Amino acid sequence: MALLVQKFGGTSVGTIERIKAIANKIQEFKAQGHDLVVVVSAMSGETNRLAELAHQMQDAPTPRELDVILSTGEQVTVALLAMALNQCKCPARSYTGGQVSIRTDSQHNNARIESVDTRVIREELDAGRVVVIAGFQGVDQDGNITTLGRGGSDTTAVALAAALEADECQIYTDVGGVYTADPRVVESARRLDSITFDEMLEMASLGSKVLQIRAVEFAGKYDVALSVRHSFEKTMGTLITMEQQGEMERATVSSIAFNRYEAKLIVKGIPDIPGVASRVLKPISKANIEVDMIVQNVADDKTTDFTFTVHRNDFQKAMSVIGQSSDEIGVHEVEGDNQISKVSIVGVGMRSRAGVASRMFETLAQAGINIQIISTSEIKISVVIAEKYLELAVRTLHSAFELDKELVLDGA
Ligand code: ADP
Ligand code: ASP
Ligand code: MG
Repeated sequence: MALLVQKFGGTSVGTIERIKAIANKIQEFKAQGHDLVVVVSAMSGETNRLAELAHQMQDAPTPRELDVILSTGEQVTVALLAMALNQCKCPARSYTGGQVSIRTDSQHNNARIESVDTRVIREELDAGRVVVIAGFQGVDQDGNITTLGRGGSDTTAVALAAALEADECQIYTDVGGVYTADPRVVESARRLDSITFDEMLEMASLGSKVLQIRAVEFAGKYDVALSVRHSFEKTMGTLITMEQQGEMERATVSSIAFNRYEAKLIVKGIPDIPGVASRVLKPISKANIEVDMIVQNVADDKTTDFTFTVHRNDFQKAMSVIGQSSDEIGVHEVEGDNQISKVSIVGVGMRSRAGVASRMFETLAQAGINIQIISTSEIKISVVIAEKYLELAVRTLHSAFELDKELVLDGA
């Protein structure tokens, strides 16, 4: 008997039939004697539909009102799943985030969970019921509805598992676990039995949306046993672990991640004097635009070029912010490109092995792919390339680092 938090994503609850199938699966776990807290997302496509409605009303929807709309998607699925469970004689009750006191800060559309009061949930569990909770939402200290950013139901599940000291947090989704690359892009991608928190954090922050980055952060911080599994197939799934598992030596590179929707701005001919980087980036951060990579070129002629990347959705806004503050920064010219993507190789094995970067660059060169920007950390190397080469780059790197092959025994 265990206390399990199980989260089912949008595709897994995308139709009435699927919700019924999920209810059967939950009922089987319940019959084994487990206590169950189930977190669900909105039906697939629903959050996009709701966001689109808000954008039809207002170009830049009021964040507070947008959250009121977005949070309704999950409210529908919790009720439907609780009904389905009750129908298969598995007592259950649905709750919104606010009803189970998931308290967040007031950063609408991207709020952070601050605390969870588990009293109501424990009472329900004690009464023998499955507790079905809406993911992706909470309330701030004034009772305003907030949402946690796209993919936020993962974070709801992990936060609940941490607060309840659950035995495991199981993230059920439309693929069999965490793979060596997005299995929808690389057919030969392999499921990993386990992956370290460090690697998973890098992957999530580099664009692999299989887990929301904050969910991984939370799980690492509060020592939550976390796994990713297939909603409908009885396969092993992937365990997220503190250390590399077992005798197996992990390949140098354990996965390829990518972020398709990037854009870059090149601010040209700015004076090469102290404070320039901050003068360029201050108006950008004031406009709430997140900057990803930053490169300042070597000065030539007492002026320099300053390049940075942002999410493609923020490209136009960033261009106009720089345009508006050009006098203040001393900008001569700004160039932009919103047809770029970022591809990264990730692996804790990289720490101890030389030659990984050169192998990556050589592989891309042989495929005729030009690298525009490079950035590295201890366990990842990222490059910016033209978007049209994205799939080619991901697949070529996947095979160059032999990720489609089985792992080898250490020393073998
Ligand atoms: P859910 O709706 O269940 O939260 P998501 O769409 O958010 O599901 O996340 C699952 C998707 O993540 C998969 O369908 C897959 O295309 C994508 N993905 C990207 N990178 C990976 C990876 N390395 N391993 C597994 N899935 C990945
Ligand atoms: N429904 C939200 C989204 O589509 C949250 C989630 O699915 O995790 O982003
Ligand atoms: Mg998701």
